[in-house]
Amino acid sequence: MTKITQYIEQAKGKTLFSIEIIPPVKGESIQSLMSNIEPLMEFKPPFIEVTYHREEFLEKIVNGQIDRIPIRKRPGTVGICASLMNRFNVDAVPHVICGGFTKEETEDFLFDLHYLGIDNVLVLRGDPVKGNPAFTPEKGGHAYASDLLQQVVRMNHGELLHEETQASPTNFCIGVAGYPEKHFEAPNLNTDFAYLKKKVELGADYIVTQMFFDNQKYFDFVKKCRAEGINVPIIPGLKPLATKKQLTVLPRIFHLDMPEDLVKAVGQCQTDKDVKQVGIEWCIQQCKELIAFDAPILHFYTMSKSESTKKIAAAIF
Ligand code: FAD
Repeated sequence: MTKITQYIEQAKGKTLFSIEIIPPVKGESIQSLMSNIEPLMEFKPPFIEVTYHREEFLEKIVNGQIDRIPIRKRPGTVGICASLMNRFNVDAVPHVICGGFTKEETEDFLFDLHYLGIDNVLVLRGDPVKGNPAFTPEKGGHAYASDLLQQVVRMNHGELLHEETQASPTNFCIGVAGYPEKHFEAPNLNTDFAYLKKKVELGADYIVTQMFFDNQKYFDFVKKCRAEGINVPIIPGLKPLATKKQLTVLPRIFHLDMPEDLVKAVGQCQTDKDVKQVGIEWCIQQCKELIAFDAPILHFYTMSKSESTKKIAAAIF
């Protein structure tokens, strides 16, 4: 399997196209997901990222007691990766998270990926359990992405958690998340930045950014990274705006700023169809500027829907 960093090297400065998808809600058919990916394959994404979703807790009253039942709403990350590789002959990049995993479970999970021939992972802390304001590490698990990253790096050196003899090494190319507009928990941008730098010093091979709608945030972020000696590829994450509601929902969830001009343009729209068109045009303009800035890859958060991304990719690639 080719590493993300190799794809970037082989492109020799040409900006590539890639997408992130989310597994379907448990019980839904995988067909709708595949039908949404299919139209995007003509733009030749070298890889598709697949998110990982930790468990949620369903509260039921049983014999007068509250029973908390762990349920995974969107299981199937590894199965979907295998299915994508098989069906589209594309590399799949699963997200690997700290939340809900002990270190031993993480080790086994990474072996599953290794045996499938997956050599790229995006290593993340993960979101808090739904309904909880703060992230709590699993007992015997990792608290930060940098801790999980070190486990992956050790496996790449053939070091397992409890075996004393040298194991056959894995060969993971490791991506991490970066936040041009700061991670919401970080007290300030510089502190957040120091932790990002630490992830790179510990062995991260590339960075994928949180979505942004104002390119200047990405440009400033990349410049700051370079000034601080962070020289790995920084892949911008893009999401085409699709509904008026997202103007307020996305800033709340992802802690980002919506540019004034975008807010004004959306404000003039009568329907969500009009908003979608504004979102597509805005994103096309973002893509053009990012290509001019030599962004290595334009990475689309599709939310497993292809319509807007296809129109944007058709205008750009
Ligand atoms: P970290 O790098 O661990 O940082 C988390 C916070 O802790 C930051 O505020 C940082 O500044 C601080 N910090 C870092 N290290 C330390 C330290 N040693 N001591 C003190 N503070 C520290 N979530 C999912 O659940 N599943 C997914 O599939 C998923 N995919 C994502 C993909 C991308 C590209 C992005 C940007 C996010 C994704 N997320 C996903 C969300 C992500 O898990 C959350 O944003 C999470 O809150 C932080 O993850 P992280 O890996 O950036 O954490």
